[in-house]
Amino acid sequence: MSIQQRLAKLNPRQQEAVRYIDGPCLVLAGAGSGKTSVITTKIAYLVQACGMSARRIAAVTFTNKAAREMKERVGQMLEGKEGHGLTVSTFHTLGLNIIRRELAALGYRPGFSLFDPEDAKALLRDLMHKDAQVDAEVINRVQHRISQWKNDLVLPGEAASHATDQDELFAARAYEAYVRHLKAYNAVDFDDLILLPVVLLRDDPDALARWRKRIHYMLVDEYQDTNVSQYQLVKLLMGERATFTVVGDDDQSIYAWRGARPENLVTLGEDFPRLNVIKLEQNYRSTGTILRAANTLIANNPHVYDKTLWSKMGEGAAIRVVVNRHEEAEAERVASEILTRRIKERAEWRDFAVLYRGNFQSRLLELKLQHYQIPYKLSGGTSFFSRNEIKDAMAYLRLLINPADDNAFLRIVNVPRREIGPGTLEKLANYASDRGGSLFAACHELGLEQVLPTRAVERLGRFTHFIDGVRRRMDAGDALAAIRDMLRDMDYEAWLYQNASTPTIAERRMANVWTLIDQLEKSMQADPEDSAASEETETDGVEAAISRLVLRDILEQQAEEDDSDRVQLLTMHAAKGLEFPHVYLMGLEEELLPHRNAVEAGTVEEERRLAYVGITRARRTLTLTLARQRKAYGELMDCTPSRFLDELPEADLEWEGRADKEDPDKKQARGKDAIAGLRSLLG
Ligand code: ATP
Ligand code: MG
Repeated sequence: MSIQQRLAKLNPRQQEAVRYIDGPCLVLAGAGSGKTSVITTKIAYLVQACGMSARRIAAVTFTNKAAREMKERVGQMLEGKEGHGLTVSTFHTLGLNIIRRELAALGYRPGFSLFDPEDAKALLRDLMHKDAQVDAEVINRVQHRISQWKNDLVLPGEAASHATDQDELFAARAYEAYVRHLKAYNAVDFDDLILLPVVLLRDDPDALARWRKRIHYMLVDEYQDTNVSQYQLVKLLMGERATFTVVGDDDQSIYAWRGARPENLVTLGEDFPRLNVIKLEQNYRSTGTILRAANTLIANNPHVYDKTLWSKMGEGAAIRVVVNRHEEAEAERVASEILTRRIKERAEWRDFAVLYRGNFQSRLLELKLQHYQIPYKLSGGTSFFSRNEIKDAMAYLRLLINPADDNAFLRIVNVPRREIGPGTLEKLANYASDRGGSLFAACHELGLEQVLPTRAVERLGRFTHFIDGVRRRMDAGDALAAIRDMLRDMDYEAWLYQNASTPTIAERRMANVWTLIDQLEKSMQADPEDSAASEETETDGVEAAISRLVLRDILEQQAEEDDSDRVQLLTMHAAKGLEFPHVYLMGLEEELLPHRNAVEAGTVEEERRLAYVGITRARRTLTLTLARQRKAYGELMDCTPSRFLDELPEADLEWEGRADKEDPDKKQARGKDAIAGLRSLLG
């Protein structure tokens, strides 16, 4: 299909958004109105109709899943080499690529580590332990605060002046120490992936010029969920030229807790007075009934922009609200219904999605789905990367590219067993910290003999010697072969067998490790980078591939990916941007949706947007379920139906199982209706 034919399939407003390329463009529209479609078509338009090189275009979104879907949709439109060098990624992957190319300018040594949130927490725990008696909750709070500061572009030196009380001051001090240590480890954390590029581009005109030359056009999906630093990244990269298209829906802003600033929509208009704002009003996804429910619900929130959505998809079925005795009955009901409906509707498993507020809600449902042998895919649960064997292998990889990565060192120095105990490690850590170096470097120092028995020094020496050997081989040539040999040589497999309860489990674990290495190889081959990549040595390639794996790990904990024919189980957060013919929303109860914390914190509006996101994922049918009783904190509690149910158009809802809760007047009225209906039937 030619690009002109593709354009012709869009409505006039969408076409305008695709064709407008001279200045900044904002598409502001409700769910299912074709915003993402505008982005994908526009990428093809830029390449095929405007002759722009794909490597000058960067499209960014929030989750891996969304990025992958977008990549697929664009891939179908571009032919042959047209798409070469195109960046379609998450914000964080874009940031990672910038950092990799700008390591020197950023003051990092080659071979940096990307710390996942757990590594970061371990580091904070270490640092704060010296300061005061702090428990896990304090560490979590400080970690969250640091993340907020980073997302708001508040640097360590400035945090103290932003602090409003003692706790904040404490966090600000921890922030400074944390950043200093990260740097010493030659490591960056998840939030740094945006923060570091922003600071670099802001302060280094040469770097800015390099990147402005590299990226000519940017497209941002789900713009309402950008935070301060992400917005700055777009603004810096685009500069005066302002050649960008961002699309968003303020009603779908659901990441305030992670620093998202829906007011970025307003800021955009102020920063770019030439901004061309295009609104889309036709929804191509959902039936009229589903759309009406979504519109009615969200009308309860205050609005900056008014949007009206309509659909030509027909009225469709009523929205069912199923009240269950307890949570188990709720799960049972959803599972058994999917089973029968799949046949009745001639649907596939993948046409069904079950959405919920919190990951824990999936547990019972999983059991029921397993019981009926329904294939399902759980997003955000225990991912591949959270398996122990994968964490071990990743730690080896990280240590190979960055021996200063103490977290990685600690994880595997005694895995498989090398008789290096906690006592030795503690002394080693003290020694390293006195000298201000890494644990790995400390193992090489002669002075270590003075604090550790010779036997311990020898054991550490054997370990570092082993790692050094692998590193030398990686530098010399085939890095992947060196890694594969390392895994064979060190008896990791034997160690797995010793530690697993059955040989089959050990076998599977080792297979997982090889899968990881295969992934690594694939990731090296698929390096989507520009010409700069070809100048990299092979070890750089491994390094890049390893950091990409770590990033994927972090992102996948938010949303995982899979194509096979399975029922999708996911949180409403992870479902953003997706659509399914049949959607079940579970747990429509006070305390759950809206979540108790949100009610206490006065952020019910964000919960309402979350419900809006959930409802608008549905194309043909929507079923809302709730339980009358649910176990919480080990006790069976009575549940109250969610206030959001009252905010939906009563006439579009079909209740089931509410009889005992129903207001007697309504019941009578319904009875009369039924009698009237029967009469008219009987003539
Ligand atoms: P969300 O806000 O949920 O991210 P969105 O605005 O990005 O939604 P899309 O996912 O782009 O919407 O589109 C929703 C559905 O409508 C998709 O199935 C898409 O293929 C279809 N669609 C979009 N535009 C048109 C059009 N002009 N004609 C027919 N179908 C369309
Ligand atoms: Mg979208």
